Amino acid sequence: MKYLFKNAKRLMEDGRTERCELLVENDVIRTIASVVTEGADRVIDCDNQLILPGFVDVHVHLREPGGEHKETIAAGTKAAARGGFTTICAMPNTNPVPDKEETVDWLLEKIKQNASVRVLPYASITKGLKGEELTDIGKLSQAGIFAFTDDGVGIQTADQMLQAMSAAAASKMPVVAHCEDNSIVYGGVVHDGKVSNRLNLPGIPSLSESVQIARDVLLAEATGCHYHVCHVSTKESVRVIRDAKKAGIHVTAEVTPHHLLMNEQAITADDANFKMNPPLRGVDDQEALLEGLLDGTIDCIATDHAPHTQDDKAGGFLNAPFGISGLETAFPLLYTYLVRTEKVDLKQLIDWLTIRPARIFDLPYGVLEEGAAADFTVVNLEKESKINRNTFLSKGKNTPFHDWKVKGIPVMTVAEGKIVYKEDTYD
Ligand SMILES: [Zn+2]
Repeated sequence: MKYLFKNAKRLMEDGRTERCELLVENDVIRTIASVVTEGADRVIDCDNQLILPGFVDVHVHLREPGGEHKETIAAGTKAAARGGFTTICAMPNTNPVPDKEETVDWLLEKIKQNASVRVLPYASITKGLKGEELTDIGKLSQAGIFAFTDDGVGIQTADQMLQAMSAAAASKMPVVAHCEDNSIVYGGVVHDGKVSNRLNLPGIPSLSESVQIARDVLLAEATGCHYHVCHVSTKESVRVIRDAKKAGIHVTAEVTPHHLLMNEQAITADDANFKMNPPLRGVDDQEALLEGLLDGTIDCIATDHAPHTQDDKAGGFLNAPFGISGLETAFPLLYTYLVRTEKVDLKQLIDWLTIRPARIFDLPYGVLEEGAAADFTVVNLEKESKINRNTFLSKGKNTPFHDWKVKGIPVMTVAEGKIVYKEDTYD
């Protein structure tokens, strides 16, 4: 099958846009030109909208197996497609945990059957995510997994992280870390700051994150392991990573849209739509995160899409689980509140969502070029909308951004050569 996507624009290196047409054959981009004359089986008019490489999200929770009431591979990847994402990496806090080859094989089969976009699963660092026994990192690294992580919890002892990183380095696999020292979390549910005081809720100190990153960058230096920090949220974490990079340590990092666009002051009531881990931090932390992205300390943006049911989230800050739905809101929010406000330019934003995550993990995705995978999204930058959680394709309807006005909506997404999302009103 040959598809011709005609009458589009693409974003050039220097930020200009240029007319373009794409000929896709099977799952590969065959030709990109201002006009493609070759015939195709099907012609799709892109309506003069911008065609971008499919977004790559290295931090997504799909909840399957074991949490299908919260999200499934089918629903989560439909949400990804709607958000313009064509490659997502699935976190291992499922039941069972992908901690041995058979479970990974089963998961890869499920993904093949049910996913609308490419899903690269993580394996866990410790068996059952219990923090007790290491998985067989050497063996698992051959099983078609993306990387190793115990996301959701930090690796508590330096000894265990040292062993994990040594084994991962020997297999040339990255260790991806949720950084949280449990000994100084003190049962916190929200950032330890002004808002935790006002709402009288136990606070999560910034130090619980940064202190573990400081430990880990030294372990990464000692082992030569590629160490990737999940959802950086504090100014101290940014500083530690910046210094580690200066010292030549192989560390990379991601930040979420919600930490870039919000801080603790957004929390005005005991509303668990604002409960995520790490929590929304202070204003100065929020500023440091954007600065970190702009100076290259932080490499990319990842959503930490972490869906839950409405019932789960009804319990307020003390009882609800951490996490929000993020795949369908990421691009419109970032475009509206970072690009249109002229804090960053569009090319930078697209890089953080495509080529940067792909490059740091050696993935051949995130580019729009001849011979590359036919992964792309067509975005209408002028289209206005309001974030409406009730329209989410994700099973998770929890977001602190409900009712936010946005511009810049992905209207069609193509993954591995197939149209996996098309807005109702768009044809
Ligand atoms: Zn996490």
